[in-house]
Amino acid sequence: MQPNLLILAGTTEATGLARAVADRGLQGTVSFAGRVARPLRQPLPQRIGGFGGVAGLQSYLQEARITHVIDATHPFAAQMSRNAAHACAGLGVPLVTLTRPPWTPVTGDDWIRVPDIAGAVAALDRPRTRVMLAVGRMHLADFAPNPQHDYVLRLVDPPDDPLPLPEAEVVVDRGPFTESSDRALMLRHGTQLVVSKNSGGSGAYAKIAAARALGLPVVMIDRPETPARAEVHDVGAALDWIAHTGTDLGV
Ligand code: NAP
Repeated sequence: MQPNLLILAGTTEATGLARAVADRGLQGTVSFAGRVARPLRQPLPQRIGGFGGVAGLQSYLQEARITHVIDATHPFAAQMSRNAAHACAGLGVPLVTLTRPPWTPVTGDDWIRVPDIAGAVAALDRPRTRVMLAVGRMHLADFAPNPQHDYVLRLVDPPDDPLPLPEAEVVVDRGPFTESSDRALMLRHGTQLVVSKNSGGSGAYAKIAAARALGLPVVMIDRPETPARAEVHDVGAALDWIAHTGTDLGV
């Protein structure tokens, strides 16, 4: 039996895996939540939108005859990862997580570590500061209790709705970013504090390196808890897992 993969996407890693899978002539589908207006074109068939919880995902896996699931969602997409773990365990479909290791502080970093978004909101309960808030569109409203700050927000799409923060400049850009361009953005805005998720990976690291270079503190939001799971950290390891998982896949 040939493998038929489901790649849960929304990250650079997922796009890289889809390309490698297509290059090898393997069959698979890339799944997006539908949060971004223009998802990057994929070299494999794609589907968009939630599955409808664990039960909906299980129905999809059965109807589409999926043999392997690769959870390559963002480390903060914890609900999707939990659902995938439960759905696959229930059906006996092999699952692996392709994820980036978290960043760790190096000499010169000034991190204020917080456990979650609520912790970051609490850390911003301070007098007016110029803040680069890099948490994504979905979490902006959480920061409404701190309207006193002058924010710069970097978003993949222009916001549809009025911003929940009265003083915010929006920069629309999907990256990848560089340390020098992020340093320039921070200098132009007069940034005094950066708020970031601990996403890991290289593209989003530019702002952390830029903050270090400028001596700025970073409120670093730790990753949410996820169920114990098999993890790989690069596309090659994910391909190896596909090749060696299942009994008679012949890949
Ligand atoms: P989430 O809270 O874990 O997921 C909420 C619901 O969205 C899931 O239960 C599922 O709906 C649906 N969903 C999420 N990812 C999906 C996927 N790849 N394919 C189909 N349905 C999906 O996720 P999130 O934090 O909103 O992130 C949504 C997407 O954006 C993910 O694909 C993630 O990789 C990407 N992303 C997230 C972040 C972040 O910081 N959270 C950053 C960059 C990219 P059902 O229960 O109906 O199946």
